[in-house]
Amino acid sequence: MSPAYRGRFAPSPTGPLHAGSLVAALASWLDARAHGGRWLVRIEDVDKPRCVAGADHEILRQLAACGLTPDEPPVWQSRREPLYQEALDRLVQAGRAYPCACSRKDIEEALRALGRQRERNAELVYPGTCRDGLHGRAARAWRLRVEEGGVTWADRRLGTQSQDVPREVGDFVLKRADGLYAYQLAVVVDDAAQGITHVVRGEDLADNTARQLLLQRALELPTPSYLHTPLVLGPNGEKLSKQNGAAALDLRDPLAALQAAGRTLGLDVHGSDSGSWLATAVSAWAHRYGM
Ligand code: GLU
Repeated sequence: MSPAYRGRFAPSPTGPLHAGSLVAALASWLDARAHGGRWLVRIEDVDKPRCVAGADHEILRQLAACGLTPDEPPVWQSRREPLYQEALDRLVQAGRAYPCACSRKDIEEALRALGRQRERNAELVYPGTCRDGLHGRAARAWRLRVEEGGVTWADRRLGTQSQDVPREVGDFVLKRADGLYAYQLAVVVDDAAQGITHVVRGEDLADNTARQLLLQRALELPTPSYLHTPLVLGPNGEKLSKQNGAAALDLRDPLAALQAAGRTLGLDVHGSDSGSWLATAVSAWAHRYGM
């Protein structure tokens, strides 16, 4: 028997919810309800310099105002760091993670020397300089040793996806030079620790999935199913984000906010208040996105 459905919404508290992040929250909630499962909220505050004080509680208030309340108390990643260190230690012991002494400038120079112009989404493709040891240099970060070959997975909305992680990303960071744990490590450890069976999140995160699958395998953790939702685009055609000035959700009219998020998901649902709207949206979701 497959484990009981457990889904989650995992916002980074870098600001209040906006129209784009509500889509991911709503989609993950609808999918959990359509499966008769549980819906959790995890505050992803590992990247401390990017977090805004009070944004975590503001997000929880906004979700509640829209009728989206978690089935278990929310968890904060900043309180779970020993779990991430334990996972990193296991990878180091298994020879899967290694220390890296390279600064961004070192990586750029190494890539230039190799005649490679390898940058993808503003991230440098790590050329593997420290794979065979630090050669007397001081360790800064920790990286996963990725094995040759492509990763393929089935996204419930996008279909078959694949990525050649060694070629497109390289050995990626698990613990940063500033001592903070990387999103990839924290998300994989927590999805497993919380027994998450289904990940529903924005399409902008789809590109991380192959790395997360590799980490799950290296840590011998189960792989959840994935569905990446459509994004809300801003006036410039780019994904709506706090960085390009998305306004905080207007909570005076939660029904209007839910309806707009529903339209992005292709759900044409009507209701007289947010409660009745959500109830109808659950069956519309099940019809459109299947089980
Ligand atoms: N914390 C991430 C974000 O807000 C989402 C992580 C996830 O859903 O996997 O972009």
